[in-house]
Amino acid sequence: MKAAVVHDFTQPLRVEDVPKPEPGAGEVVVKIEASGLCHTDIHAAHGDWPVKPKLPLIPGHEGVGIVESVGQGVTEVKEGERVAVPWLGYACGACEYCASGWETLCEKQLNTGYLIDGGHAEYSKAFAKYVGRVPEGIHPFEAAPLTCAGVTTYKAVKVAGTRPSDLVAVFGAGGLGHLAIQYARIAGAAVVAVDLFDEKLRLAKDLGAEYTVNAREQDPVEEIKKLGGADAVIATAVSPKAFEQGFGSLKRGGTLVFVGLPKDNEVRLPIFETVLSGIHVVGSIVGTRVDLQEVFELHAMGRTRVVHEERSLEEVNEAIEEVEEGKVDARVVFDMGVEEPSRRPEGLLTQEAEQPSEQPTGEVGEHRGPIPG
Ligand code: NAD
Ligand code: ZN
Ligand code: ZN
Repeated sequence: MKAAVVHDFTQPLRVEDVPKPEPGAGEVVVKIEASGLCHTDIHAAHGDWPVKPKLPLIPGHEGVGIVESVGQGVTEVKEGERVAVPWLGYACGACEYCASGWETLCEKQLNTGYLIDGGHAEYSKAFAKYVGRVPEGIHPFEAAPLTCAGVTTYKAVKVAGTRPSDLVAVFGAGGLGHLAIQYARIAGAAVVAVDLFDEKLRLAKDLGAEYTVNAREQDPVEEIKKLGGADAVIATAVSPKAFEQGFGSLKRGGTLVFVGLPKDNEVRLPIFETVLSGIHVVGSIVGTRVDLQEVFELHAMGRTRVVHEERSLEEVNEAIEEVEEGKVDARVVFDMGVEEPSRRPEGLLTQEAEQPSEQPTGEVGEHRGPIPG
């Protein structure tokens, strides 16, 4: 089968022929239809983080496709069903984190497209218990970005404790950010989006952000303070500076949610101001299987819009460059051959699409366990 493979952190990916996987006990093999390119794949390909991925590696943790074969003992999904293969590829199911609704913190977890091969391939092997079921009516091109960008920002908005009267600042209006804006709005908050590119900010406005700040032209701290300060900041930008600016933008008692994972792994935050202003700083990592199901439900109800550009897998290295240069509208999705019939996505920028609800609709959902950190 064809796959995009990382062999060396200093070299481009190679699109090559590799053996097609076979399902073991409890596993499924999925014929991939669409695979989203998350910035995490780029960090993986460059070996940016303190914990390195396996090599060689097939990245990708937004793979969506049809279950082609199931291994022994699989009861969760059947052949022919459409599933999503997320970052949380496996968790033990028994530790204190798994048992308390925090499977995303399981120490035995295996991450798709990082520690095990992922979705940038014609077929992907996955643990049946950890795939997401894609509801009828959601096109694979839309389901793919929801599988990481969606679930991650949905969870981050929950972790922020977002309420209808809040001002939420979303730093970074890319793949994650464009969905973060929508979940904050669904929770009833007003949103200020911060990015370095006007096109991204135009999209942010289209998706419901009341305010935008181009951090190349204006100081986001000053601009957000003028609005009264943010109750929560969702930091998705791939830059520690944005995290520091996010901190500076908070109101007293506000919450800074770390979501982005820039290569440069340090921020400087002042202790005095954190203490006197009662600031919360919290990390948020993807979301649970239940969060993913909720994300799909919201999309199936027409409450979110997924913006994406399609590419072929052969264009993987060009696509990475475009994402790094901020030239992509939200998300690149690799078109691996969608099984018909599938409704065409409505989220394309060129088409008239449904806007997120204008009305505050209450909280996204209650916390399902203690907030980490
Ligand atoms: P992306 O490239 O699509 O979006 C990043 C956005 O940040 C871009 O629009 C870019 O223009 C903007 N940006 C860069 N520097 C900025 C600055 N100084 N100020 C404001 N905006 C700035 O990337 P993505 O796929 O959305 O991923 C974002 C980050 O989140 C990556 O580091 C990724 O690894 C991480 N991530 C974390 C989780 C998690 O569970 N915590 C999950 C997925 C991705
Ligand atoms: Zn991701
Ligand atoms: Zn566990």
